[in-house]
Amino acid sequence: MTRVPVRDDLSALEGYHSPQVTVDVRLNTNEAPVGPPAAFREALAAEMSRIEWNRYPDRAATALRTAIGALHGVGPEQIFVANGSNEVLQTVLLTFAGPGRTVATFEPTYQLHGHIARITGATVVEGERAADFSIDMDEVRRVVSRSRPDVTFLCSPNNPTGGVDSPSVVRELLALSPGLLVVDEAYGQFADWSAVELVDEETPLVVSRTFSKTWSMAAARLGYLVGPRWLVAELDKVVLPYHLDATKQIAGTLAVRFLDEMNERVRSIVAERERVITALRSLDVDVFDSGANFVLFRPRNASGRAVWQGLLDRSVLIRDCSGWPRLADCLRVTIGTPAEDDRFLSAITEVLS
Ligand SMILES: *Cc1c(COP(=O)(O)O)cnc(C)c1O
Repeated sequence: MTRVPVRDDLSALEGYHSPQVTVDVRLNTNEAPVGPPAAFREALAAEMSRIEWNRYPDRAATALRTAIGALHGVGPEQIFVANGSNEVLQTVLLTFAGPGRTVATFEPTYQLHGHIARITGATVVEGERAADFSIDMDEVRRVVSRSRPDVTFLCSPNNPTGGVDSPSVVRELLALSPGLLVVDEAYGQFADWSAVELVDEETPLVVSRTFSKTWSMAAARLGYLVGPRWLVAELDKVVLPYHLDATKQIAGTLAVRFLDEMNERVRSIVAERERVITALRSLDVDVFDSGANFVLFRPRNASGRAVWQGLLDRSVLIRDCSGWPRLADCLRVTIGTPAEDDRFLSAITEVLS
């Protein structure tokens, strides 16, 4: 068999790894611990029976974009929707990055920003965050003046470190960066402010969100961004026609009717997060502050990898970040149900003793 060579610039690229292992307690991918309300499932089932399967879905996904826009007080023409926020980011990068263009990230941050940018053929410039993983403005100035990025990423709350960027950080980045600023707010509902309030026609800013985390809809693969109208129109040219299937459009439109329930889930996860952080702080680990539904921590006197394995041996799966740059020995745990968090806490207490 003859293998056809892949693009030269892709040959060194590694895939995205996040092991899907069968365990009792799965706290590794920042999903919501419980599903959407039963009333949502019933409404979805009823609507599904009315789909005209022989017809293409609404190409502009107008009902869905209108419903999402209403969440943010904007019209459908300011909302771009795709199959997960990763596809939203891919479309942004296909439109504004690609060969000959530069994308800036501030590490450690969400690995897929750089990964997708490289797949589009862009050059990725990695700035470093400060020791506490906040954005270091001197570093931003250095990266931006040297590389003049076409696209700059922020992630707030930042995955995997958990910190929230303040409005002044986002404003400063907007002032400094010559290109488009993308603020990934996959965990935005956990934070006390949103960069959506800075979006307008004159500002080169988009804010991406996902249904995978706070909306308890990872299975649906649905994400969106809020941006200027002109920019959304450009993205609509780049994305494949009819990329959003009818089922997903209906699921998303129905989901946002359950906003109160979503906010209630967020409140209980935040309370649970504070309980987990307090418990972890009583153990021999360093814990980073989190404004999201996960917590990054580092065992002080044990290797991160060994602790991760010890938890897995007890059927508790968390994310092993210990091999990632700048994150030696770090582990990230997603906040689960109180029962799952108890399992995690007793397992880690055992592993560390
Ligand atoms: C989980 C996550 C996403 C979500 O991606 P989807 O494709 O919408 O599931 C995007 N950005 C960050 C930072 C995430 O952690």
